[in-house]
Parts: sequence; structure tokens; C-alpha cells
Amino acid sequence: MGDQALYLSGPRDARVASYNLREGGPDEVLLDVATVGLCGSDLHYYKDGGIGAALIAEPFVPGHEFAGYVAADVPELGVARGDLVAVDPARPCGQCEWCHQGHSNLCPNVAFIGAPPIDGAMTAKLWVPRAQIVKLPPALDALAAVMLEPLGVAIHAVDLAKPRLLETVTVLGAGPIGLLIVQVLKAAGAGDIFVVEPLAHRRAMAELLGVAGAFATLAEIPAVDGGKGTSLVVEATNNPLGFRDAVLAARIGGRAVLVGIPDGDIYTLPAAEARRRGLKIKFARRMGEVYPRAIALVASGRVDVSTLVTHRVDLAGTPGTFAALADNAPGYGKALIYPNGLNFNGREK
Ligand SMILES: [Zn+2]
Ligand SMILES: [Zn+2]
Repeated sequence: MGDQALYLSGPRDARVASYNLREGGPDEVLLDVATVGLCGSDLHYYKDGGIGAALIAEPFVPGHEFAGYVAADVPELGVARGDLVAVDPARPCGQCEWCHQGHSNLCPNVAFIGAPPIDGAMTAKLWVPRAQIVKLPPALDALAAVMLEPLGVAIHAVDLAKPRLLETVTVLGAGPIGLLIVQVLKAAGAGDIFVVEPLAHRRAMAELLGVAGAFATLAEIPAVDGGKGTSLVVEATNNPLGFRDAVLAARIGGRAVLVGIPDGDIYTLPAAEARRRGLKIKFARRMGEVYPRAIALVASGRVDVSTLVTHRVDLAGTPGTFAALADNAPGYGKALIYPNGLNFNGREK
């Protein structure tokens, strides 16, 4: 049997079918995929058939959070056949004004593995440009390696948020990104963190991470801080009202960082609430050069990625996992997909 892959073809259409591995180029490395994270952005492609103008034109293979075993020695990187590596899915152009200014996360010419039309890693093997391979210390296993990409998103969000020492923060959304943001905020010196999350099991996960309080709705927060809101809010939901909630949770003169991608790609908020607070609002877009810090946070144990992973499935289990996450099934945190099977260690082929 040849290789298979998980294809997204349109709204609510995820299926496993055979996959023809393309030829690799001279600057590419072949990986046997170890594991792939199912990301909220993959869910947007699944639910809406696209994100904003980035629509699924033909069936494509998602998967931008992944780790794999190199299929041959790569002496330039100091990795040998069978070594586990992570991958930075983004390849910015390096030529545009944003790349020159150090904002490679904003490069409009970026090539991104796992965003249409570039196939991602929900398949057994994948060619990856050598420059995007991230060498790992031996302490990191495949589960930790695959979480470096979403952790990088959280690091970038906290870089933008610039929490002050012991500052009280509200985090909206306790999905994997929100829970990583909570941990990075703590590592960055933030004080009490209040979480708003409608799903009970995700509130429980936030509480395990030692937040000061986890609430089902924003309306429960007014008790917090005398009802004046917090000076810093980080939004990491898929809710079209996430921007509004970030504004309502913020104190006069406060800051809000928006990380989430809203379902339907539309924000609505009462303008006066934002204007009267004089808020400083930042939008987080992907990440910059964050992998060294992501590796250090995981290797040192300052960020725990393993407890966020609630489900591990092979390719056959992937369509059902997309559906469960899209339907907010109870118990789901981060789901990881193992295209070569749950016990594959890169050396048995
Ligand atoms: Zn992602
Ligand atoms: Zn560029």
C-alpha cells in the first residue's frame, strides 16, 4: 500500500486517501513524519473551507505543526538518519521591506507548509527545505517537538503583550494556544492570570496550570479587580466576539493582544467601549525567530506541553478528530496525529 494522507476538500470534508510524494529538491530533506498537531487554523479550513481570502481551491493536506525523523544524514545540520527534528513551517522571502525590518512573520510572500496550496504534514513522508529544519536537544521527544510551533505562537504573543512584573492579566480562551500563553506569561513574570473559557474541561486544564481564576463567561469577571478590568488582556479564541470581549475585559488605558482567528473572519465590537478606554491594541501574526526560546522553555520544564495533549490518533482516526474538535466535544485539548502509527520511531521502515 502506498502512502496515505489526510485531505481537506471543503467545509466539513476531511478524508484519508492515497498520496503521491513529490520529488524533493536539492535543498530539501525527506522526513518520516513522527507527529502532527491539529491546530485551530486547520479547524478553520475544516469548518469554513478557508481563512479569509485563503480558500481551499483543491484538496490539500494540512499540518504545519510537526516533527519528523530525517530519512538520510544531513551533515550541514549535524543530524543523522533517524534523528528527530522539528520544522519551522514558515519560509519568509528575506527580500521584502518587512523581512528587512526583522518582521519576517509579516512577510506577504511567505511560503508556509500546511497552508494552501502547499501540502502539510498529515501524511507519512514530507520533503522539507533544509533551512526550515530545527535541530533538537536529545531531551525533547516527538510530542514536545511538535508543540514548539504553537509554543512559538504563544511566545510571540507575549513578546507583543510585554507584561509588567506581577501584572494581572486576563486571557480569553483556554485552548492549547491560550494555555501556552498562560504559561509563557508566568515565565515572563506576570502576576495573577484570569482565564475566560466556555468549555468546562478547558477551564479545568487552566486551573491545573495555577491560574488565579477560570470563568465560563466574561460577565463573571467584573468581580475581578473591582470591576475595572485588567490592564493587559490576551485574546486566543475562535469567537467572532473575542475582540469585543477583549475590549470589555480591559481596563481604561490598557492593552489588548489579539491572537485568535475568529470563525467567519469578522470582528464586531462596540466602538465606544474601545475608544473610551483608549486601548492599545495589537494583532499577533504567527511568530518570528522564537524556536531557540521555545526549545529552552520546554527543555527546562518551565513550560509543560505534555499535559495539553489529550488525544493521539493515527490517520484513520483523523477525520473523526476534526469533527470532534469542530463540535467542541468534551475532553479535547490538543490532538496529535501520527501518520505512521502511534508507535513509529523512525527506524523501523
Ligand atoms: Zn498552528
Ligand atoms: Zn519577505
